[in-house]
Amino acid sequence: MTENKGIMLVVSGPAGSGKGTVNAMLLKRDDFAFSVSATTRAPRPGELDGINYHFITKEGFIERINSGDMLEYTEYCGNFYGTPLKEAEEVLRSGKNLILEIEVEGAMNVKRKYPDAVLVLLLPPSYSVQEERLRGRGTETEEKILQRLARAKEEVALADCYDYVVYNYDGKADEAAAHILSIVDAEKRSIKRNGRVAEKYLNS
Ligand code: 5GP
Repeated sequence: MTENKGIMLVVSGPAGSGKGTVNAMLLKRDDFAFSVSATTRAPRPGELDGINYHFITKEGFIERINSGDMLEYTEYCGNFYGTPLKEAEEVLRSGKNLILEIEVEGAMNVKRKYPDAVLVLLLPPSYSVQEERLRGRGTETEEKILQRLARAKEEVALADCYDYVVYNYDGKADEAAAHILSIVDAEKRSIKRNGRVAEKYLNS
């Protein structure tokens, strides 16, 4: 018998790692849910409020921090991003695994508060591929691209704080998603998540 509570799964990846694509594959399963973050960043074309992010004002964001409604938050490249607490707790209680698509500082804060959280670092196959992907996306100005590449270097330097690393090769997002699934599957079977194994078994 495995524990019923869902796993808090942090998937961090520098800009261009393809974390959106990989996570979308995991989210096709009904045992995974996405933590919709709040942000003060403007929506990109195609992004929907309440689906990709809760797009809110800086004042609204600060209010939510002050009312204790953020599990964690950070400032990233000039905007605030944060994980709504109540929504996260509800999903985990329901038994679903919750994907937090957040950057490294947030990931560290999650691990401090929830030591059982599983931290996965998703990386492009190489730094040069990352740069190509970011420029190819065409959604950011050159200044923003350089800012995000610089940030990516800082993030990768903190790789040792993560539990797992998964590489996302071109055209192989399905493989990266499969690797993450196997990590979650192994975690579900870990002894630390399956308390009193002998007692439960011998009484079954
Ligand atoms: P983007 O602007 O590209 O959507 O996101 C910028 C960065 O912020 C990404 O690394 C993304 O994973 C991260 N991010 C998104 N939501 C959150 C959040 O709620 N908390 C933290 N700490 N980072 C977030």
